[in-house]
Amino acid sequence: MTGQRASVGSVDVPTGHFIGGEWRPGSGETMSVLSPIDQQELTQVAAGGPDEVAAAVRAARAAFPAWAELEPIARGQVLDAFAQRIRERKQELSTVETLDNGSLLIANQKRIVDRAAHNLEFFSRRALELSSDVIEGSVVDNHVRHEPAGVAALITPWNAPLMLSTWKLGPALAAGNTVVLKPPEWAPLSCALLAEIAAEVGIPRGVFNLVHGEGARAGQALVGHPDVDRISFTGSVETGRRVGAAAAANVTPASLELGGKSAFVVFEDADLEQAAKTVAAQFNNAGQVCLAGTRILVHASIARDFQARVLEACKPFKVGDPRERGVRVGPLIHPRQLERVSGFVARALDAGAHPLLGGSESELGGLYYQPTILANVKQDDEIVQQEVFGPVLTWQTFEHEDEACELANGTTYGLAAVLYSGERARAERVASRLVAGTVWVNCFFVRDLEAPFGGARQSGVGREGGLHSFDFFCDIKNVAIKHDSFTGEAEAADG
Ligand code: NAD
Repeated sequence: MTGQRASVGSVDVPTGHFIGGEWRPGSGETMSVLSPIDQQELTQVAAGGPDEVAAAVRAARAAFPAWAELEPIARGQVLDAFAQRIRERKQELSTVETLDNGSLLIANQKRIVDRAAHNLEFFSRRALELSSDVIEGSVVDNHVRHEPAGVAALITPWNAPLMLSTWKLGPALAAGNTVVLKPPEWAPLSCALLAEIAAEVGIPRGVFNLVHGEGARAGQALVGHPDVDRISFTGSVETGRRVGAAAAANVTPASLELGGKSAFVVFEDADLEQAAKTVAAQFNNAGQVCLAGTRILVHASIARDFQARVLEACKPFKVGDPRERGVRVGPLIHPRQLERVSGFVARALDAGAHPLLGGSESELGGLYYQPTILANVKQDDEIVQQEVFGPVLTWQTFEHEDEACELANGTTYGLAAVLYSGERARAERVASRLVAGTVWVNCFFVRDLEAPFGGARQSGVGREGGLHSFDFFCDIKNVAIKHDSFTGEAEAADG
């Protein structure tokens, strides 16, 4: 390995762009990477723009034919080795991800790194099952093929860079595309390690490129590049609009996985103990989870009882350094995010909200914010309508099913919904009425990689997961072959 490197929590991390199989400083411009744990600088990474993006897209384009031509099984072997090496470097990846984005060390060690590896393994195997379907017609047989699209631009946010990057890398690479990954500027380091691991396991030069940089420069240049064939973007609705506009200019297919303000509906016949524990789990990752069920909607008849159970379930949610055992809520990512979260809560309190829990910054100072639940809020309040992306839930009650559905569907988002009920018929009825890409019934955050994932309304465009990922990352081609049109076949058919 060559190029600039830094020691981050004793892990040696490359800090340049990774283009055409080489670490490059680019223009020499850098950006500071702060740890949310103590706001100290971890390192500086290269800050790219249009030139670095153009070089990366060129490298990806040059590498495309050979990678696309490999049999899926051969690509799968490389991706399996990639996954295996991710597991071998679990401690390093966990340490870096925690220092970089403030997620719990234990969660990274126990779940997230394995999930990142699994993302690659799952899609490498799933690619082997892509068959050439044949639709028989009266004149032709239609041979429907998944063919790699070309160069894929992958853009991820800071709340789960390792997980979300591999969720895109897996299907993009398994399908035979080459990629340019633009990591989140507030937490770019685990993506840098992924690029290093890709090189270690022999992913050919130019197949996996990485360009660091600010979204408005590097990200915008990437999604606006005319030689990009697919854009898979995860981030906010606001940025999603810009990405969609850039994609539209080149008619580039874009998958947009955007923000959420998901409802968490609790009926009077639910397992309240379990539902209360699941409410508390919405504070995982300091609430910086797109899928979080942040709007608690409770049947009025059980509201008092349920409130007591929720407050009890939240007691273990200790705020603190995400490396410490027993801590359940780490810091927010950045001073700007703290300002955002504090602003939302302060305005809600001014408007008459009543805190059932928290309601202010933690006494620890820094970027730590208390788990917060706000009652006495109205449906059209900003705090109910807008994604906060922090440890802040709202609390509303309803009298009947229709009202629950109306409140649940009453925002511009539609990423997910959580519902707790003891009656299957009701759960299925309500699930069918909720506007959401995913509805979890009596559970939360269970993600099977074969299942479709994405958002309704402004929470996104398109679905990824299982075959949907391949439908997105591939050109689906129909080869329509006329019956009995090859030499010898007509005679054979005639008998
Ligand atoms: P963001 O939209 O600010 O940034 C996301 C990524 O886009 C970053 O890498 C950023 O550099 C890049 N970017 C910014 N401007 C760009 C531009 N003009 N062109 C191209 N790229 C650009 O989002 P964030 O603050 O990093 O992340 C939080 C948001 O992500 C929340 O809204 C959250 O709900 C959402 N999110 C959604 C999902 C999902 O699966 N639906 C998952 C995680 C997070």
